[in-house]
Amino acid sequence: MERKVRVRFAPSPTGPLHMGGVRTALFNYLFAKKHGGDFLLRIEDTDQNRFVPGAEEYIIEALKWCGLVPDEGVGVGGNFGPYRQSERKPMYKKYADSLIENGFAYYAFDSAEELDGLRKEFELRKEVFSYDLHTRNNLKNSLTLSPEEVSERLQSGQSYVIRFKMPENRDIVEEDLIRGRVSFNTNQLDDKVLFKSDGMPTYHLANVVDDHLMQITHVIRGEEWLPSMPLHILLYESLGISENRPRFSHLPLILKPEGKGKLSKRDGDKMGFPVFPLLWKDPETSEFSRGYREDGYFPDAFINMLALLGWSPGTEQEFFSMDELIEIFDLSRVVKSGARFDPEKAKWFNRHYLQQKSPAELAGLFMPVLNEKGISPEIHQLEKIVGMIQERCEFVKDLWEQGHFFFQAPKSYDEKTIQKKWKPDTNEKLESIAELFESISDWKAESIKETFSAFMTQKEWGFGVVMVPIRLALVGSSSGPDLFDICELIGKAETIGRIRTACEKING
Ligand code: GLU
Repeated sequence: MERKVRVRFAPSPTGPLHMGGVRTALFNYLFAKKHGGDFLLRIEDTDQNRFVPGAEEYIIEALKWCGLVPDEGVGVGGNFGPYRQSERKPMYKKYADSLIENGFAYYAFDSAEELDGLRKEFELRKEVFSYDLHTRNNLKNSLTLSPEEVSERLQSGQSYVIRFKMPENRDIVEEDLIRGRVSFNTNQLDDKVLFKSDGMPTYHLANVVDDHLMQITHVIRGEEWLPSMPLHILLYESLGISENRPRFSHLPLILKPEGKGKLSKRDGDKMGFPVFPLLWKDPETSEFSRGYREDGYFPDAFINMLALLGWSPGTEQEFFSMDELIEIFDLSRVVKSGARFDPEKAKWFNRHYLQQKSPAELAGLFMPVLNEKGISPEIHQLEKIVGMIQERCEFVKDLWEQGHFFFQAPKSYDEKTIQKKWKPDTNEKLESIAELFESISDWKAESIKETFSAFMTQKEWGFGVVMVPIRLALVGSSSGPDLFDICELIGKAETIGRIRTACEKING
């Protein structure tokens, strides 16, 4: 019988979730949904030294914002819990014991200082120390000490670690679902620590045991875990649980905008873009890192952008809803090489999603921004305004930049436009326009335009000669939506008032 697809996102709560982590979660989610499977959230918090308060809550909130809601896991529950590794502590010991009993692992008693000393010694010889088949026989462990001494040390409560005894000269070959055939020779691998005397497993053991117990069918994770894969495969084998072990897929790195090296928080700080989904305040330094949400990105734009970092549909299509992604996502179309992140492309996606929104929806999002400034326009009025400026915006906050003049008179006037367009007779001309406007009773864009045009023809004035100064008076600059629409929306008295104020200020 086909097993139900079960995948997990297994972050460690060591800080805010990097956007690469969100992409890992996304690809897991898409794969699960595509195959009618389960998407789990497991928190891998075995390394208590690296625990950061607030990180777990951040991860849960970020996934929620992105619409990547787990079917099972921390914050949700399920039949395979607990889903926080620190709460599963008692489950791991028997696996570590079984490895020892069967000769796949050994106790090591070398102190941190001793190992440090060795590292330095090796460094002096321009070599790198590694606890492995070349060195293990000269170190303090259950392979070199007598059984009596080992049990004495264990009994006296001396601290120890359990290390995996990497077999000699074996080729571990695996079909990675993204990379194809990958092969490792065990002579290149060291004896990783699996378990510590405080009863806590390390990442490797806990990860493998949990994937087994949680019946995970596919491990989809970042490329940085590829070197761990042979150890994990050997652990399944040594524990006698490899029959249903998961298949592996390793996602490509997300690269810096310039193309080389892994995308880091520093790149974001330097170039002014977020690398985290949500704003994060470091609990230790109180330093803030910006987030896509707080920077004004829509979650669907963020997800769309992430989906194409390392995956492609094989067609020209660039815009995808979550449902469409689920429909066509395929691990075999994930690339092996790194995916370059382009912050401009992220904005471009946001622009697209903003353009897709109705003025009514955008007005709803814009209203709180205005309310905060003490402005409370009528919603229908606001919808009209939004409809006029929407196409110039990438973010909701741009609506203010593009439309502030609908709500308040300009505080200054663009100097360059004044120099170019404000002639000695402009004031006089604008005053006659103000008077003309006073005579208009039907204050609608259409009729203002008609009256204005007739007047211009009669006076034989060029349109630009008057239109640009009027725009300057109403908006403060030479750009913006249709002038007569602006007149209608801000109202007759306000239009005339702004024209006269500009004349006073500019000729003053
Ligand atoms: N805890 C690991 C991490 O933080 C999980 C790696 C894996 O998915 O196996 O990314």
